Amino acid sequence: MRSRWGSCNTQRKHVNLALELARRDDELLEYVIVHELAHLFERGHGPAFYAVMDRYLPNWRALRKQLNGR
Ligand SMILES: [Zn+2]
Repeated sequence: MRSRWGSCNTQRKHVNLALELARRDDELLEYVIVHELAHLFERGHGPAFYAVMDRYLPNWRALRKQLNGR
């Protein structure tokens, strides 16, 4: 899975993060890390994926809004 901020290779269990994240708040970095690690449990962005996000980072929706400037 790949996005502007990071990617996750589930087979190699390898997470890449955008260097630009270093200039953002730590909690936004945390959001991207948790998002990418969640793909180790769930590959897509379906309900099961969001359940993993809810469990490990309950305020992820607010952080995603902040990260995307909305
Ligand atoms: Zn994703």
